[in-house]
Amino acid sequence: MNLIFLGPPGAGKGTQAKILEERFGYRQISTGDILRRNVREGTPLGLEAKGYMDSGALVPDDLIIRMMDAEFEHAGDVILDGFPRTVPQAQALDELLRRKRRAAVAILFDVDMNVLTDRLTGRWTHAASGRTYHERFAPPKSAGIDDVTGEPLIQRDDDKEETIRKRLAVYEEQTAPLIAYYDNPADARLVTVDALAPIDAVTKQLIDVVSGDGFSEHAPA
Ligand code: ADP
Ligand code: AMP
Repeated sequence: MNLIFLGPPGAGKGTQAKILEERFGYRQISTGDILRRNVREGTPLGLEAKGYMDSGALVPDDLIIRMMDAEFEHAGDVILDGFPRTVPQAQALDELLRRKRRAAVAILFDVDMNVLTDRLTGRWTHAASGRTYHERFAPPKSAGIDDVTGEPLIQRDDDKEETIRKRLAVYEEQTAPLIAYYDNPADARLVTVDALAPIDAVTKQLIDVVSGDGFSEHAPA
């Protein structure tokens, strides 16, 4: 079963995707990480996406949908982290899933909007892997250093208060309608987790969801 992580910036989607990737062998597809890699490498996609990302706006649907088409060429169950973010993206994903004969369940990270600014302004990121930490809620072993590689952590340019406000408004306007898209009685594809809980308690809820589908834990390959 493929998982679609739905929820506002800072809800904890990336944190949980990394944990499930390690423990259950999922592949995390983070559109934000892919876009940031393209920006760093100065690819045509990166050059086109950068202005939107810097201002906290969404990158146009056609660019994102083309990018995701390529991602589905690989086998194996995925966690979609940060995609879809608009109704046209969700429709394109449904079409892609149909073509690939795959199923997906959407998991809503339900969180109080008031905690998000604190989570995002305190977030520290390892750029190459997309691993994140939080200076208070999930600190690295040494401040500013990635636990795994020893490389320096960065604070994302769009994790400053002014851009966060814009990103949360964009979420409410363009992405929150996906809750109704997935929560329709006809196909019952939405499960909600309490994302205000501490990180390990959120993981427990997610394990309940995926183990209901007959997944078993295994070590990463
Ligand atoms: P998203 O991918 O949804 O934007 P992240 O997973 O990057 O969010 O989490 C945002 C920040 O909040 C990170 O610094 C992360 O360490 C921290 N965080 C994630 N989950 C929780 C949680 N349940 N409680 C407190 N802090 C959290
Ligand atoms: P994220 O890492 O998920 O917080 O995404 C960072 C930024 O990348 C967003 O603010 C958008 O500009 C862009 N982005 C990521 N995913 C998408 C998407 N599915 N559709 C449009 N823009 C996206």
